[in-house]
Amino acid sequence: MGAQARWQTIADAEGSGLTLSKVRKSFGTVDVLHGIDLAVEPGEFVVFLGPSGCGKSTLLRVIAGLEDASDGTIRIGGRDVTDTDPSERQIAMVFQSYALYPHMSVKENMSFGLRMNGAPKAEIERRVASAVEILQLQPLLDRRPGQLSGGQRQRVAIGRAIVRDPQIFLFDEPLSNLDAELRVAMRIEIAKLHQRLGNTMIYVTHDQTEAMTLADKIVILRGGRLEQVGRPAEIYDDPANAFVAGFIGSPK
Ligand code: ADP
Ligand code: MG
Repeated sequence: MGAQARWQTIADAEGSGLTLSKVRKSFGTVDVLHGIDLAVEPGEFVVFLGPSGCGKSTLLRVIAGLEDASDGTIRIGGRDVTDTDPSERQIAMVFQSYALYPHMSVKENMSFGLRMNGAPKAEIERRVASAVEILQLQPLLDRRPGQLSGGQRQRVAIGRAIVRDPQIFLFDEPLSNLDAELRVAMRIEIAKLHQRLGNTMIYVTHDQTEAMTLADKIVILRGGRLEQVGRPAEIYDDPANAFVAGFIGSPK
């Protein structure tokens, strides 16, 4: 990253698209990703959809740099990031389990990462205030995660991602711990967030409704391979095979 401080966003003339070329991942002798080729346009909302165990989380973690790819290339905005640390990828990830620090207040949870990376106080305040406004977290700022509902915790986790000002957001089944009603409300909130921020977002789910309503583009995964990539209507109307048709609940 050179002289660029870790809390700063890298201005990138080529935008914040993502390109995966022949990305493989093995754990020991077990091949989990079998050579993934995928292009994500800047600003696109892409949903990875597939059954449990098909490699969705592994693919996200490889994109984030939390796992090394065994082979292949990952480019963000035209920059080869395959061998870089997670902190150099300008990515923020939101997990199903929220991953908040239990002993810190909401405000501390949101500012901690920037503080660790040496961002100036005024910059931290500015970014936290912006995320608080976007997600309406003002009334919760002094609470600890244990004093929040599941939906509130997930909003804080999303706020913490926004504060990092990433080029790309990665969401790993962020709503699966919430009850059905709250899931719908949060889904709408995430769609609005995408409209407002315009960032590239990659969202993992095994829920077809979430995929169909949120995605610009759906990527169907099975057994570590891409079965089909397309707009929701394309996939619904013209599934590539019986697996996709069955999974998406299409009439074909
Ligand atoms: P999904 O998120 O689609 O449910 P995962 O990416 O979590 O799937 O897992 C895909 C496969 O990779 C599973 O068979 C899982 O057991 C295996 N796997 C994931 N992480 C590891 C790991 N750290 N070590 C060994 N196997 C793993
Ligand atoms: Mg998973």
